[in-house]
Parts: sequence; structure tokens; C-alpha cells
Amino acid sequence: MSTSYDLFVIGAGSGGVRAARIAASHGARVAIAEEDRFGGTCVIRGCVPKKLLVYASRFSDEFDDSAGFGWNPGQPAFDWPSLIAAKDKEIGRLEVIYRGVLESNGVKIFAERAVLAGANTVRLVRSGQTIMAGKILIATGGRPFVDKSLKGAEHVITSNEAFHLDALPESIVVAGGGYIAVEFASIFAGLGAKVTLVYRGEKILRGFDEDLREGLTEIFLKRGIAIVTKATISRVERIGGKRRVTLSNGTVMDASQVMMATGRTPNTAGLGLEDVGIVLASSGAIAVDDEAATSVPSIYAVGDVTDRVNLTPVAIREGHAFADRAFGPKGWSVHYENIPTGVFTTPEIGTVGLSETQARAKFNAIDIYKTSFRPMRNILAGRDQRTLMKLVVDAKTQRVAGLHVLGPDAAEIVQMAAIAMNMGATKGDFDRTMALHPSASEEFVTLRDKWMAPGAAAAVLPPRG
Ligand code: NDP
Repeated sequence: MSTSYDLFVIGAGSGGVRAARIAASHGARVAIAEEDRFGGTCVIRGCVPKKLLVYASRFSDEFDDSAGFGWNPGQPAFDWPSLIAAKDKEIGRLEVIYRGVLESNGVKIFAERAVLAGANTVRLVRSGQTIMAGKILIATGGRPFVDKSLKGAEHVITSNEAFHLDALPESIVVAGGGYIAVEFASIFAGLGAKVTLVYRGEKILRGFDEDLREGLTEIFLKRGIAIVTKATISRVERIGGKRRVTLSNGTVMDASQVMMATGRTPNTAGLGLEDVGIVLASSGAIAVDDEAATSVPSIYAVGDVTDRVNLTPVAIREGHAFADRAFGPKGWSVHYENIPTGVFTTPEIGTVGLSETQARAKFNAIDIYKTSFRPMRNILAGRDQRTLMKLVVDAKTQRVAGLHVLGPDAAEIVQMAAIAMNMGATKGDFDRTMALHPSASEEFVTLRDKWMAPGAAAAVLPPRG
């Protein structure tokens, strides 16, 4: 049997669901296929369950800190299965909402795998149905990458499995130095596991501002997270209930679990892309132009399967913009400048715009303003942990080009600051804004003195007297 739609979406994650819903709201006849649970990586096995685990991991600090404020929290005990059950219940609730949004917008749902069978044809694998569509949108996302040449790869987990472990590991080795590696290292450490982070480079979080990278490294070490740099995992063996890990530098260590967080791969395999002539980028992702168009005129792609900016809000915007352009009265394009992002470690990172290194490469001269301080709460709590705030300013235009925070609520602070930066705020605009006292982010409107590298002052300032 053959049916026909204006739009067929493959993949019901953040980008696909948004595109389907918006296209349907414009009156298009829309169908969507999903082989797994509805909601995609973010809702089912990414941002949302991760943030719930982050919240759980922070209670250990809360209990510790409360004593400084007169509380006696006794001997708090943590139960992993209870957390996982509560998390699963919430994810189940959200999945129902995702399906409901599609149904209430009149989108036809196929809960099975779909592959391309032509420029305007999709084949449903289980039912064997063939469906015609004016346009096809591929929004199949990505999945964790594990190097197949790793000896003992069958003994490791990825973030997918980390959300469903039967028990909290007593100890865990986490490989990688990006978002997922540092977030899970922080989660497991907060919940009481002994954590070792193994990273192939010199410093975690490549691409982030150096002060954030160094600041988080220092705090991780203080929190008892071991960091092994310039090393990778060469072999994992299962010995009884334990994993024996051999590193490229020869170190051997035992742990209850080994988690690979070494990047993600776009889900392009077995979709029939080559058969219809869709060009892939060298990364294996689907190559698209600024309007999400692939090399086949009727086929489009958004989100992580295109491996551009792999963030949920970006996929959502790309899906929305595609649907408006294809079926709405007015088209628009996604604005990729100043995308704020958070790393949900404890403490967390919030960042928007250019790092100091990137700004130095882009502008003739830059001004740096930064401060590091012990937040008010940490003083009574007796917690030796400082917050870092940093502004990177283009010296010529005085526009704020980068804003970085390492400390509590960093993501919340940076989301709002990103609005100002997208409006082209200058350092003067920040200075003119009244402080909200007492808060941490008031530092951003009270930073007066340019930061100079140690030793630089003598060269810049005239001699005294
Ligand atoms: P990232 O790209 O952030 O990090 C991958 C890490 O693995 C890097 O440290 C990389 O090293 C290392 N690596 C890559 N290949 C190998 C290898 N073969 N052997 C050893 N190490 C390797 O990927 P993640 O998986 O952490 O996250 C994927 C994406 O998901 C992120 O880029 C981000 O866009 C998104 N994400 C966003 C989150 C958020 O917004 N809070 C949370 C989680 C994910 P090197 O630095 O040397 O390349």
C-alpha cells in the first residue's frame, strides 16, 4: 500500500518533533517515524536524565555544607535504584507528552524504523509499507562513539547504559575530556564513586576558555576526581565483577565500570542515503547547506545527524526554521552566533561567545576582565571553592565578545547574558547596568580593572614618581 504526505520526518527527537509539529500547524500533511522511544537523545538518554542525575549528585555537597548553617543532617544515605526509578518515571511522563504533541497536531505516527527508498519515498522496515512524501526530513541524531579497535570493548559502557546501571559503581574510569566525560565524572563523584578521568590531551574541555579548563581541573582534583592526561584506554578485561583497565602509558587500574565518552557519531548507517545519492561530509554526517538542504532537492536534514553544533536547542531551531521555510508563510534562518552552552559539572560551566584564545586570533586587541572569588555561601559552608567570571572584550569596539563562568548557577547566568551579547552589548552597557546585590553575577557589572598577565603591568604602566 502506498500513502502520500507533504512531509515525512525520520526520527522523533528534538529536531524531528519540532519540525513535524510546526509543519503540521501550517496545514501540511505530516508523518513521522521513530524506531526507539519518542523524545530522542535529549529526553530519553541525554540532557534531561543527565540533569536529574546532576541534581541527585549535588545533595552530597548540600548535606556537607548545611552544617555550617546550623543544620545537623545526620548520616544521609543514597539509594541508586530509587533515583533510577524516579528518573525513569519522569522520562516516561515526558515521552507521553512528546507523542501527545504530535498527535494533537495531527501528525501520523509510525513507531518503527524508516529508511529512504527514493528521493520522495520512504520504506517502513517492519510493516514493509511504502510512503510517498513531497519532502523528507532526516533527524536521526547520533549515538556514542566507541573505538572498535579497543580490546575488551564489550566490557565498557557509554552514557546510554550509565542511565540504567543496576547499582552505583564503587569506582569508575571515564574516558574522554569533553562534555559527557566531565559531566558523568562529576555525577558519579558526587554520588560517592571513586572516579578516574582518562583524557588523551593535556587539559580537559578542549575548545573552552583556558581559565575554565584550568579552574575545573583544579576543582575536580580537590573533589577527589583523579585525572590522567595524555593517555587513552588500550585494553579492558573482565576479572570477576571488576574491570581491569590498561592505559596507553602502561598504568593498570581496576574499576567497577568503564565508561567511554569519546564523542558521538551521526546516525546515518543503513538509512539508504547512498542509494538516493545523499552526499556525506568527511565526518560521516549528512552534508547540508544553510537551509538544511541535502544534495537531493526533496530531502533535508537537521540536528546531530548533520554534526554541526550538536546541541538540543540548535536542533530544535533548525527543525522549526526548516518547517517555517518549507510550509509557513515566512521563512527564516537559524542564527548560529553566540550560542550559550553549559557544562553540568559541579560546579557548572556557562559560556557564550569567544574564548580568550579565539578572541586574540580574531581581533587586533582585546581587553580581559576577570575575577575569582569565594561565593558568600561557601564561606559559612567552609567550602574552599572559588567562582570564576570572565569577560572578553574587543578593545576597538568595546563589544563583549565572550563571557565565561565557572561556579554555581553558571548556566542560568549565561543564558541571560547571551541576550545582551546578541544585542551587541558593550563593556559600557555592562558598566551602566545596576548591580543586583547580593548576587554572584553582579560581578559582571562591577568589573572595573582590565586584567593584565603577571609581568605585563610594568611594560604598560609609566614608571612611578
Ligand atoms: P565531545 O566532542 O565534547 O568530547 C569527546 C571527547 O573524547 C574529547 O575530549 C575528545 O578528545 C575525546 N576523544 C575523541 N575520540 C577519542 C578517541 N578515539 N580516543 C580517546 N579520546 C577521544 O563529545 P561528547 O561525547 O562529550 O559529547 C558529544 C556532544 O554532545 C558535545 O560535543 C556536545 O555538543 C553535546 N553535549 C552537550 C551537552 C551540554 O550541552 N551540556 C552535554 C553532553 C553532550 P579531544 O578533545 O582531544 O578531541
